[in-house]
Amino acid sequence: MELIKRRKTPTVTVGHVKLGSQYTVVIQSMTDTATADSQATFKQTVELIEAGSELVRWTVNDENAAKAVPETIKMLCAKGYRTPIVGDFHFNGHRLLAKFPETAKVLDKYRINPGNVGKGQLHDDNFATIVKIAIEHDKAIRIGVNWGSLDQELLTEMMDKNAKLKNPKDAKDVTYQAMMESALRSAEYARKLGAKKEKIVLSVKMSILQDMVTVYSKLAKKCDYVLHLGLTEAGGDVQGIGSSSAALAILLQQGIGDTIRVSLTPQPNVSRAREVEACKAILQSMGLRYFAPSVTSCPGCGRTSSNFFQYLAKDINEHITRQMPRWKNEFPGVEKLKIAVMGCVVNGPGESRHADIGISLPGASEKPIAPVYIDGKEAVTLKGEKIKEEFIVILEDYIQKRLSRKAPFGSK
Ligand code: SF4
Repeated sequence: MELIKRRKTPTVTVGHVKLGSQYTVVIQSMTDTATADSQATFKQTVELIEAGSELVRWTVNDENAAKAVPETIKMLCAKGYRTPIVGDFHFNGHRLLAKFPETAKVLDKYRINPGNVGKGQLHDDNFATIVKIAIEHDKAIRIGVNWGSLDQELLTEMMDKNAKLKNPKDAKDVTYQAMMESALRSAEYARKLGAKKEKIVLSVKMSILQDMVTVYSKLAKKCDYVLHLGLTEAGGDVQGIGSSSAALAILLQQGIGDTIRVSLTPQPNVSRAREVEACKAILQSMGLRYFAPSVTSCPGCGRTSSNFFQYLAKDINEHITRQMPRWKNEFPGVEKLKIAVMGCVVNGPGESRHADIGISLPGASEKPIAPVYIDGKEAVTLKGEKIKEEFIVILEDYIQKRLSRKAPFGSK
């Protein structure tokens, strides 16, 4: 989007996916299955990929998990899924990667948490082991600092130093500084060990929106590393989606962030892919990327005569979901199509004219007719029992004709 100028970052290649300011913001997700359970991890990974996840992270927490990684990747490849897989390592990553070279080879990126690779000299040695294996296999690394596991030695060192100052800073500021330092010092060390800037991604996740935004904003000013954004432990459902959307939007609007994840606490009977859907909704609502036609629909109010407009909006969204696999192939650019489904004459005609195609349903006390607007002009008026079916026929016809005019959607 022209209004958002991306912060300049180098290109980091992860499998076939490119991260960095030259490329679109990439969507990531993470499985919550036991990685040792190849079948379950395969199934959930496919679910995430099908939903649109462009990188999928698996925890590699023990030997059984490390052993299972190559087999699960083989299963994915056999079904044609080439989405890069990221190994998430904590505490024992240095041992697992050294003991299971095949796992090190087939993973596309390693996530290292500098807060839990060990203490003192061991910290440096273990970190170095992972970085050297990454270099050997030509893999990217993400140095993922997390507020919940911030390097306590570093934090103590910085707090002590701060306490000796004539005018000590607020403890919160020191914590922000420690989050950044942990990421930057680790990156510097990785560089000293031979890792190229084009192989390093940084993240500094926190669970409170204002903290997270502050630290990422400061970090973005201090370096030009590729950044992965996420509000960690954001919560579930409305809370998680709402807070993640707000946090990511603030940073993305400033051009900060090359990849994103929305971390949602799983809800019963809700697919893990919801976190991917949330990422897509954030990027599309900001005009950064387009995934499917958008439907503008009014919230309804006392002027709506029935809940028909709610069902129509829902049916149109379901129609889009069903048709997208076909539309994507037949009508490139269809994802930018704008549809309006409105409930009365107040904003109905206006919103419908702004959309590529829109319908304005009759509100209370209005004539029972539904004008359809195409490319900003009133084209036809629908009435009776078959409004939904007739509108869908008009929509399909519009997409066909628009394509034959080769006019990109959103350019009317
Ligand atoms: S368009 Fe009409 S029905 Fe919909 S919210 Fe506005 S006033 Fe209410």
